[in-house]
This record gives sequence, structure tokens and C-alpha cells, in this order.
Amino acid sequence: MRFNRRSSALDRRTLLKGALGAGAWPLLRAIPAHAQIKSFPFSLGVAAGDPGPDGFVIWTRLAPEPLAPLGGLTPAAVDVTWEVSTDENIQRVARSGTVSASAEAAHSVHVEVEGLEPGRVYFYRFRAAGTESATGRARTLPAPGAPVSQLRFASAGCQQWEAGYYTAWRRIAEEAFDFVIHYGDYIYEAAVSVADNHGRPHPRVMPPDFGRCLTLSDYRRRYALYKSDPDLQAAHAACAFLSSFDDHEVANNWAADRDSKKTAGAVFLSRRAAAFQAWYEHMPVRRALLPHGPNISAYRSFRIGNLAEVAMLDTRQYRSYQTCGEPFASCQEAAAPGRTMLGEAQERWLEETLRAAKGTWQILAQQVLFSQLDWRSFPGHHGAGPQFRMDTWDGASAGRRRVLDILSDARAANPVVLTGDSHKALALEIARDGQDPCLGVEFLATSISSGGDGKQTLKNQDAIFRDNPRLKFLGDERGYTRHAVTPKRWQADFRAVQKVSTPGAPVVTRKSFIVEAGHPGLVGA
Ligand code: FE
Ligand code: CA
Repeated sequence: MRFNRRSSALDRRTLLKGALGAGAWPLLRAIPAHAQIKSFPFSLGVAAGDPGPDGFVIWTRLAPEPLAPLGGLTPAAVDVTWEVSTDENIQRVARSGTVSASAEAAHSVHVEVEGLEPGRVYFYRFRAAGTESATGRARTLPAPGAPVSQLRFASAGCQQWEAGYYTAWRRIAEEAFDFVIHYGDYIYEAAVSVADNHGRPHPRVMPPDFGRCLTLSDYRRRYALYKSDPDLQAAHAACAFLSSFDDHEVANNWAADRDSKKTAGAVFLSRRAAAFQAWYEHMPVRRALLPHGPNISAYRSFRIGNLAEVAMLDTRQYRSYQTCGEPFASCQEAAAPGRTMLGEAQERWLEETLRAAKGTWQILAQQVLFSQLDWRSFPGHHGAGPQFRMDTWDGASAGRRRVLDILSDARAANPVVLTGDSHKALALEIARDGQDPCLGVEFLATSISSGGDGKQTLKNQDAIFRDNPRLKFLGDERGYTRHAVTPKRWQADFRAVQKVSTPGAPVVTRKSFIVEAGHPGLVGA
């Protein structure tokens, strides 16, 4: 992979010569975009996403001064050309074009590239104001139904910028995956903090004028700060992302039209609209995900040859409010039959998607812990009885039961649930109740940086495992989960970065599990 930032000086010279040679006025009038761009406009990198068998989205955003309003640009639109090629020097161009990057979308560019071959690696790059972007790499999905011998991808998320360096993203870039599933918490919307919950100073210091994100401009500047990171840019340039959002893209533990402080209705929805707009502007997603006011259609599916179906869920927009009065609780209301994490329409869509799925594996890519988990023995909890986290599927157990029914009815033979949000690594076997047979597995990816430097084990770990017989692994370091999937078996590796308080730490595999197709359950590897 090359990350080139080539020859803007040369290009400007050429441009100037051309302008003078042709008579300055007409050409200068034609290039207002160039005139306003005085430094490298691709400061936020490039990205690809939402791959299909014939293409993918390529993304960039022009922001010569990332933290300035509108990224340092005027409201004028800027022409951006793009090229997609089969070689990394962009010599054998397969598709190319020009789009207009408008200020209404923060000069972001989302090109839905079509007409490419399935299951093939491509390279792409942009050009604006005489400057070339870095070169990105992305792979199209295999043709629907085509045999797939192996798929390699990562699941990751929770990347609070000030909490640690993005070494895990650098390691993901080095693994050159087929794609990355980003479950969310891409940004954290809170105001500047200088220390974590334990009083340890954060390794990175946010600009002092970063308050809580409330307006579109606030959210845009937050994404610009995060996306300025070279390790994150390297990960995006290395493979396509399947992007989702959790709570912190909008507000801590928001649910439907309400935040955790119970600001609700139209007041909260105007904030949600700003947050979704900024999310769209910074993610490599299709036009179908352009928000309509406070609403976004973010649940969608991806078919990977004859190997797998990925259903990417939205567990925030249509869910029931958290109940029982406390973040961790055990109460009857959480089991009320009307409670839901997906809402009716998405539940129906999931059922149809899984019924139509043909692949060996059924992947539910989503945000918060799906399995039941009793937190009473975790550090910081002192419950005499069980404690369930109301922001997860434990807060809507009837909704979970309906999804398990959907899996059974659709004859989903090999469901794999991919999750994040807990800032811990977990592997669990999914079952309806106590002694019921295992129906599938859940792999929860730890955070990229949120929570800062971690430990291999938790205090009270033995008690935690005793409280939770379905829990098979628990880790408290930063990192990501690596998945290698074949028609016969799935291997998940819990990858841990040893430190995020300083850059450049190595990554190690703490634990691996195998799932044999047709035999739901976790086998230690
Ligand atoms: Fe998080
Ligand atoms: Ca979260």
C-alpha cells in the first residue's frame, strides 16, 4: 500500500503557467475553487465503504484546515475528480469521473463506483485544486452465490480520541483485510476531558475550545479532529468499511428520540439531525443513507458470495427507552413483551433478509451486547443479586427473544452476532435460557482506544465466569477482533494492543475461538 501525497507544487506551477498562457481572466474566473485552497485539501484522508459485487463507495472530504469552520473553505463548490484502477499506481484506470463537492455537505464526496468486477482488489484516488489525495485500496464483494474459500475481516469501534493512540487502527491497516465492520462510537460527543474515570491523564489533549457537540458545526469539527489521525486514515485507506453508529455519534446512551438526560422530542431530534448529517458527511456510505432530517435508514445487508449474509442492524433509532431507572438493574419491566431494540419494521426486515439468505453464516453486525450478561461481580458493581445493563438487549429481552425466533424460523444454521460498546473483549454462546442448546455465538470487540491502557484480566474474573456460564472469554485490553471465515469454520482472534498511552505498541492475539459450521458453539483454539 502506498500513501502518496504527490507533487502539489509541480501541479500548481503547471496550472499557473497554463493560466498565464491562455490569458489570465477567463481561467482565473474558472478556478475559484483552486484559489481558495492554499494547503493540502485531503487532510482527512480517503475511505471506501459499503462494497457490493460491482463496486463500492469512495469517500473524501476537502478540508485544508480541518478544525476551521467548513474545513477552511468558502461556501463555493469544488470539483473533485476520481479514478479507480486495478493497480496501485493508478495506471490501468477502470472507472473515473468528476463530482462537485458542495459546502452543504461540508465538501464531502461520496462516489458510488459501479461496473467493477466481483471479488477483486482496486485502488482509488482523488484530485482537486491540482493536488492528489492518498491512494486507497478496496475489494469488491464476491458475486452472489459464488464460492468463497476465505473471508478475512475485522470488527472494531469505540475510539475516544483523547483516551489513546490509534495503534489498533495501524495494525488493522497492516492486516489488509477484505473489509472492516465498524459498529460505532466513531466519535465521542462529550466536552473536553483531561483525565479518565480513574484520574489518569488522557494521553492526547483535545483543543480547549471543544465543548459538547450540539450543532452541526460542533459535530463536523469533532469528526475532523478524529479523522486527522494518520493511523485511522491508514486503516480506511487499506480496505472498505461497513459503517454503523452507536450512541456517542449523537449523545451518550440515546434511545429513539431521547438522550440519557431525558431531553426528548423535537429538541433532541434537531440535535440528532445535526449528528446524523455529520456522520453521513464523514462515512463512506451510500446515498441511501443520506439523512432526512433526524431520520436515517442505516440498517442494510451485504451478501458475500455463497459464504455469508451480513445484516447490519440499527439498535438506537427504533428502540424502547431504557427502563428500570438505573443503568444496571434487574426488574420485570425489562422483560415486558412490547419492548424492542429494532422496532417492528426492522424486525420484519431482518426476518425477510435471513429467510432469503443463502450463505453458510448469518452475521448480525450490531452495537450493544446481545447475550444476557450478569454484571454483579464486575469491578465497580456490588449487587447482591443479578445486574443487567439496561442499555443492551438485556433491557429489552422480549425483543431478543423475537430475534432468536427469527433465527430459528429462518433456519439460520450458523448465526454469529458481532457487537461492541462494552470496551471489553467478550466471547459468548447464545441460548434462549439456562440449559437450552447453543443457537449461535457472539463476539464482542473491545475498544480501539476508549478506556485507555487495559489489563489482560479483570478483578473477580472467576466470579464473573461463575455468574455467566455462557461467557467463554473476557479481556480488558484495547484492540479489535479478527475473523477468518471459510465454508467449514470460523476463527475469531481477540487481538490486543499492549498500550495506547504511547504510540506504536505491538499487537498480540490473546485468545482464539473456532466455530465449526453446523455445530453452534465456541471451541478454544
Ligand atoms: Fe464506546
Ligand atoms: Ca456505546
